[in-house]
Amino acid sequence: MKTTSNPNPSTTAFPAVFNKIQSGKLFNTNNLITSLNPESESNQIEYKNIINSISIFQTFLLEYYKYINFNSSLTFAASQQIEYLFSLLYCVSHKGGWSIMNGNNYWPLISKYFNSLQAWKLRQDYDKYLFAFEKTWNPSSKFDDDTNDKFLTGINPSLMKTVDFYRPSLLANEITSVLIHSFYDEDCIVIPEMANKFLKINIEEFSIDRLRTMTMPLQYSDKSFTLDKLLCMNSFYTEFPLKEKLPLYYEISEKLLESIHWNSSTNLLRYIPETPGLSSPLIIILKNSFFLIGGQSYTSLNGVYITLYGKCEWIGIPQAALKALVKKVRKDQGVDLYDGSWRPDEKYLLINNIEFFYTLTRSGDIFMAKSDIVYWMYSELGVICQWFMLPKNRMSQISDSYYKTKDKQHKVNFPLLAVEYMNMHLPDVDMEIFALLKKIFVESIDEGYWQGIFIKETDDIRTCSLCGKDLVWRYFRCNKCRIQKDVEGFCLSCKNSHKCSEIENVEKFSSVELEKLYMRLDKSNESHQAQYALKKVLIREPHKGCGDKILLDTTFCYVEEKFDLPKNEKQIQWGMNSPCKKKTNNVSYLDVDECYKRKGMKKQKIREAMLNPLSGPRFNYVVDMKKKEQEADLAIVEIPRSKRKTNNPLSSLVKKTNNPELSALISIDRKKELHMKNNIENKNVEER
Ligand SMILES: [Zn+2]
Ligand SMILES: [Zn+2]
Repeated sequence: MKTTSNPNPSTTAFPAVFNKIQSGKLFNTNNLITSLNPESESNQIEYKNIINSISIFQTFLLEYYKYINFNSSLTFAASQQIEYLFSLLYCVSHKGGWSIMNGNNYWPLISKYFNSLQAWKLRQDYDKYLFAFEKTWNPSSKFDDDTNDKFLTGINPSLMKTVDFYRPSLLANEITSVLIHSFYDEDCIVIPEMANKFLKINIEEFSIDRLRTMTMPLQYSDKSFTLDKLLCMNSFYTEFPLKEKLPLYYEISEKLLESIHWNSSTNLLRYIPETPGLSSPLIIILKNSFFLIGGQSYTSLNGVYITLYGKCEWIGIPQAALKALVKKVRKDQGVDLYDGSWRPDEKYLLINNIEFFYTLTRSGDIFMAKSDIVYWMYSELGVICQWFMLPKNRMSQISDSYYKTKDKQHKVNFPLLAVEYMNMHLPDVDMEIFALLKKIFVESIDEGYWQGIFIKETDDIRTCSLCGKDLVWRYFRCNKCRIQKDVEGFCLSCKNSHKCSEIENVEKFSSVELEKLYMRLDKSNESHQAQYALKKVLIREPHKGCGDKILLDTTFCYVEEKFDLPKNEKQIQWGMNSPCKKKTNNVSYLDVDECYKRKGMKKQKIREAMLNPLSGPRFNYVVDMKKKEQEADLAIVEIPRSKRKTNNPLSSLVKKTNNPELSALISIDRKKELHMKNNIENKNVEER
């Protein structure tokens, strides 16, 4: 997963403005105006803002030199590019700090303030020179002192990966199905404001206020509640199939692009029984809680998540880092990562050297992610619509993922999906998919199943209740355990170790039908009638949604791209009066039993999870998290009490630099300043 565009050697040089600084023009009016407010050419800048910024700059200088403490690798940059570092810190603080910059992948958006220095370079410089400084100095995002003392120097900030944000350029005028399919190949991607601004879904219909007018009962902890009742609680998690509210269902269904629709002709999940949250949309409502989704059992399906209300935070662990984290969590916290009672935070992952994706979404954003990454989604109050896709052109990747985890339980019974698809489409199936599906199906039929007399099944049982493996053709059931222990059916290997005597042999279809299917698979060019006996799923018609492309409104502008630096004092909260606050992230770790009790899950599901935590059902649990004390969008740059001076903040600089232009700046009025600026500009022109 790349985080930004590739390195380009020609852009590793610092912007031209720093050459000016090095040539002795540091602190003249002209470069202060341009570097502190890059849009000054079109906007008037208030004189007092410059003074204000300089006072912060002075503090920054003092604090930064104290921080680098003669560290040779940092001192050089500090002496050569201190104003660049200041501008970078100022920009990032203004957007809420390093984590929020990464979570929204804002780096490409600030590039214009740094002579188009590339996003990866800005991030790299920030990680190297300013990350640790921010974590000790910025009151809104600093780590606690204990963490800083013990771990800060060992932390590698590049472990936090940004997720690609698709922000169409002015040149792009449409979103096509080709583009959407390219998103499926990404590990994860956010398309900001796609649902509301591009697809024109009326997300207002999904706001908490609108949803609370619904009278439908919602499940939480094995009980039914109205949303109003749930909202009185400190935290909850609940979900319902979107189909239960038809007007809401159509609001999304009719406006989605065909290529992203759960009933898309290219989505092979149409060939499994309709399962909300897997093959059809599920609405999730949560308050101060989270859910865990993804992992090997999802065989790399593509998850689609529309944030319909509120803000969500996503932490994703790629497969490569997962093993180490599972081990670490078991050792440190004594919990199984997959049981859903535990959630990592940024600090924990950084300290333990675990690579992770971090992203933030807000209402209207669509987040798409391959599900072999394990995700925690957290929201203080949010509504999300979620389903999975199995795009035809990813079938080979997905079958790889299936074979790698063949002895584990899967969310999708692939052999039965293969039967359903091939039975319906032979002989007109795409040859590449056909070969993969045929292999999956043929290999799933074990020799041992051919012996004995079997009766036809009454229910479509697809998973072994004991080991979780796929049931494809023949299986067994025990009339005693069915009633007493919820054991619906089990596979041959579980039968061999089953001690009861009341075992029945059942089959999904007869051996004659199976032989016939084999014959059709071998002569896949010949036309034969579909076998009625093999049909287990009511296949939904492909849905066109709003078509295969949408035109973009060229006048559209992202809310988040209004990225101007603050221009008046009201926008800048310098934190003069606020005491230094520590960031508090109190996640409560609860024991597993308590967690199961409160999740309100069926006993059977819990047993499945106990037996095979890797592939258990999706869990969710609630954490107590102290509300963020600061609004994310406010920059708080606190000036330490000892450094606050009542005299003119520029006086010390004036003495030090002995720059006549700077002393002039203190007493100059606006008219003179502009005059001086023009003079400098003219001089520059003449010099050229
Ligand atoms: Zn079994
Ligand atoms: Zn039994």
